[in-house]
Amino acid sequence: MKELTTDYLEDAIEDSRPFAASGNVNMSLPNFDETMKDMLGVSIITTDQQCYSAGDHLQVIPMQSTSKVVGLMLALQDFGKERVFNAVGMEPMGDFFNSISQLESFDTSKPFNPMINAGAIAVAAMIKGQSPENRFSRYLDFLKEMTDNDQLYMSEDVYEAEKANSARNRSLAYFMQSTGTLVTDVEEALDLYFRMNSVMMCSDDFARIGLFLACGGRSPQTGERLIPPHHLRTVKAIMMTSGMYNSSGHYAVEAGFPCKSGVSGSIIGAIPGRMGVGVIGPAIDEKGNSTAGGALIKKLSQDLGLNMFGEKGGFG
Ligand code: GLU
Repeated sequence: MKELTTDYLEDAIEDSRPFAASGNVNMSLPNFDETMKDMLGVSIITTDQQCYSAGDHLQVIPMQSTSKVVGLMLALQDFGKERVFNAVGMEPMGDFFNSISQLESFDTSKPFNPMINAGAIAVAAMIKGQSPENRFSRYLDFLKEMTDNDQLYMSEDVYEAEKANSARNRSLAYFMQSTGTLVTDVEEALDLYFRMNSVMMCSDDFARIGLFLACGGRSPQTGERLIPPHHLRTVKAIMMTSGMYNSSGHYAVEAGFPCKSGVSGSIIGAIPGRMGVGVIGPAIDEKGNSTAGGALIKKLSQDLGLNMFGEKGGFG
């Protein structure tokens, strides 16, 4: 077992960076280009608030699908588990994240789970607020509080790109309207979903979200519990089974802790009772996961004994 230090993390970054070569940067995101291919940053924040970071950890990238975790926390808070999972399933799906065929094959009334696009759009429709603006500010304020970063912002460029490339997500949403899964205003649910994907963060912020999930859902400023433990358990279980696209089984075996990735190369990891992990690595594989980031997550698990299915108190 290795000791968690900044030097260790610097070495781990250099060992994992070569895996970026097998991935591709998602050029549909504004300002994403080849020069970002080798970027890799990591942050770890432990329960006792020790922060360790290395590599390109200050690079900001859009949340993309990591937003699905935060949306799910809010929807569970607003509607409760029963109603949320009445609209969305909790089963893993061996298909791509934006699959249309799955909407008809599982249960015509609901998408497989909240970590795929259709499920996350249905979840976004369950975030409460008096107006669309208010729903997004609730989301952003919640993020600012859990990351202890009031500088977080939504990138207008990313938001515009999300809208411009939205044909597939619009199809999913309107299909769900036709089956009665989406009963609220479809355009409003989509707009909120696009905005949620467009919030910019560095790996320190992603690690804070991981820590929030791992350790009681408390505000880092006040210690107040913002999300009850039973909802956090649900979110972490869904991350474990469905958070890494259709490689989730692989990551459950090789890393063994709940993670969620996004096509910007973002990864949030939550090691219950111990730490939050944030990774950015923009070169992604064909399923959507950061290639260097994924290698790093697996290395951290092995070196630091983070696999929850081990023997020593669950880890090791
Ligand atoms: N903007 C992407 C979409 O909605 C996010 C997908 C992702 O990160 O998985 O299609």
